[in-house]
Amino acid sequence: MPENSQNLMDKIVSLCKRRGFIYPGSDIYGGFGGFYDFGPLGVEMKNNLKNLWWKWMTIEHENIVGIDGAIITNPKVWEASGHVESFVDPLSECKKCHKRFKADDIEGKKCPECQGELTEPKKFNILMPVQIGVIEGEKVNAYLRGEACQTIYLNYKNILNTTRLKIPFGVCQTGKAFRNEVTPGNFLFRQREFEQWDLQWFCHPKEMEKWFDFWKKERMEWYRGLFTNPKNLGFYKHEKLAHYAKKAFDIVYEKSPCEIKEIEGIHWRGDWDLSRHQQYSGQDLSYTDMETKEKFIPQIVETSGGVDRMFLFLLIDAYTEEKERIVLKLNPKIAPYKVAVFPLLANKPKLIEKARSVYLGLKKQFSVVWDDRGNIGKRYYAQDEAGTPFCITIDFDSLEKDDVTVRERDSMKQERIKIKELKEYLEEKLNE
Ligand code: ATP
Repeated sequence: MPENSQNLMDKIVSLCKRRGFIYPGSDIYGGFGGFYDFGPLGVEMKNNLKNLWWKWMTIEHENIVGIDGAIITNPKVWEASGHVESFVDPLSECKKCHKRFKADDIEGKKCPECQGELTEPKKFNILMPVQIGVIEGEKVNAYLRGEACQTIYLNYKNILNTTRLKIPFGVCQTGKAFRNEVTPGNFLFRQREFEQWDLQWFCHPKEMEKWFDFWKKERMEWYRGLFTNPKNLGFYKHEKLAHYAKKAFDIVYEKSPCEIKEIEGIHWRGDWDLSRHQQYSGQDLSYTDMETKEKFIPQIVETSGGVDRMFLFLLIDAYTEEKERIVLKLNPKIAPYKVAVFPLLANKPKLIEKARSVYLGLKKQFSVVWDDRGNIGKRYYAQDEAGTPFCITIDFDSLEKDDVTVRERDSMKQERIKIKELKEYLEEKLNE
């Protein structure tokens, strides 16, 4: 990694810990490679992201429903998906682009795709095994799911039978996935436990081109709407495709400080998944069009993204060093706290009382944080680093005039606003 990129990553990692976004997993035991915990600010921001994604999928689009599938499934699922097969062959993984190659297919020690260094060939499987059952010798071997999408395929028939959906329709899901990554690293970018958001869009084979292009465009617009600098996003076109895919694109963050740029893959999965599950389960997974009586296996366009990668790219994109402060210029929709409330001085009961009433009044509607530590300058500094869009100060004038100072994060402009107009003011500003 170039020195300035490494510096940026180091600064983000440090800010994340300092402000309570991300902590190393099992921190008091010295950490545990590839696992992280979200702190108080991190979980707020991650929930904001997931809620925005969920609402966008299910409310702003017709014909999309959600599920919340189990993390552990019948192990046959992973045979059908092809994940178990990789046990058989020794594979080498590229340390740079993380693609894996059968040891028999490659010559030399350099990646055929990006010329990165390859690991020694190993028999490995990215699936994380678990044992189910309590009696030794009778335990069943299963896996933590390696990708969140499989439970959508497993429930496709259940969903058709229990809803009024007709093709084309989508099923979305957010949830944890687990991978025994050979080379975890780069903070949240390559973890062993991470979260994905997936849409599987089921359509008629003849309509694949149309829907693939539709979702590619839709997803990019969604991402662009949330980044501080949308121009930093682009597409990466895959040249080497899975045998069932006609095309594949990644939505990438071009200014990534490391070699990992992918946030989300837009995949042409065709009828591969449903056909495999039909074959392995022995169940009929075809679809019959009630009007034309045509029977076929639906084809699938998948949009599969990483919540944690999006989270980290957003922080990187929002991170701004100014003369006397560091600011996270996060879109207010995803900022962990929308508003911070301060009494000008922490030792004046009248100010505290007034500030508490403002704080409690706003708290019912917005995500608000109270801060009475140190002086006002330090509080602004801390809230800027946390990305809080508005800071409200209650001073001696507030006691007389029933108004407050509202300070906006990016411009640092301050305005006096009447307390009774605060909610409306904030609502308007936060939805701009
Ligand atoms: P990559 O090639 O970068 O490893 P992938 O192509 O294996 O990713 P998919 O299987 O398509 O990834 O998973 C969908 C999304 O899940 C990716 O776009 C990425 O955002 C996220 N993701 C995948 N692996 C990890 C990981 N180890 N840690 C964090 N996020 C991940």
